[in-house]
Amino acid sequence: MNGEESAWPPDGERIDIDLGDDHLLAFAEYEGERSGASVWHRKADGSICAGWIAFEGRAWARSFTGNPIATWKIEQEDPLTLSPSLLCRACGDHGFVRGGRWVRA
Ligand SMILES: [Zn+2]
Repeated sequence: MNGEESAWPPDGERIDIDLGDDHLLAFAEYEGERSGASVWHRKADGSICAGWIAFEGRAWARSFTGNPIATWKIEQEDPLTLSPSLLCRACGDHGFVRGGRWVRA
């Protein structure tokens, strides 16, 4: 044991959807709208990584007038389906959220 292995699910984090395959999603509100999400994922070495996505057309994305940001479209709210795929810039983790589940790309 190296003592550095992180808690899973991450300590103190509210989780909204367990997507499976070591992926957890937490919605983020902005100005009263469900505007994005953090996607936690556990890597093969046990360490934890997280990416952030903004939802198309929602308050947080709309706040970037004139300087658009990358957004994800909510194809379906419940169970959650997003497009396009999610690619983590930190670790290269890549997959889709479809029907409330993580589907590897
Ligand atoms: Zn990652």
